Amino acid sequence: MTVSDHKESVPQGVEAQYRQALDEGRFLIQHCTGCDRAVFYPRMICPHCGADKLGWTTPDGRGTVYSTTVVRRKPEAGGDYNVALIDLQEGVRLMSRVEGIAAADVRIGMAVRAQVTQQNGQGLVVFVPNKEAP
Ligand SMILES: [Zn+2]
Repeated sequence: MTVSDHKESVPQGVEAQYRQALDEGRFLIQHCTGCDRAVFYPRMICPHCGADKLGWTTPDGRGTVYSTTVVRRKPEAGGDYNVALIDLQEGVRLMSRVEGIAAADVRIGMAVRAQVTQQNGQGLVVFVPNKEAP
């Protein structure tokens, strides 16, 4: 038995790529060329068809609030904030939060759009109300 001395690919590779793009201010999701569907959270194998033909794509950014929760927090700790599940135009759902509006005013079905913000030195996707939506 021989021991390979070349580096194995890092299991967290795609997540690391995702985070690095975010840190640079870019929000990316994956797209499968095997079945032409969007994939999120980042992974190696397409959850729809099992292919490993996943590439990066920049989502349109528009989405809809699927569910919303107000997390209570003391004012001195930053006040209440919102945790929401957002359905992107591309057909994937992600957990994020809606900013630019009172946490309790976020509504299911509300049109939102993604933006990348920096928090504790790391890129993070948040959503703001999309006022241009019909
Ligand atoms: Zn696929």
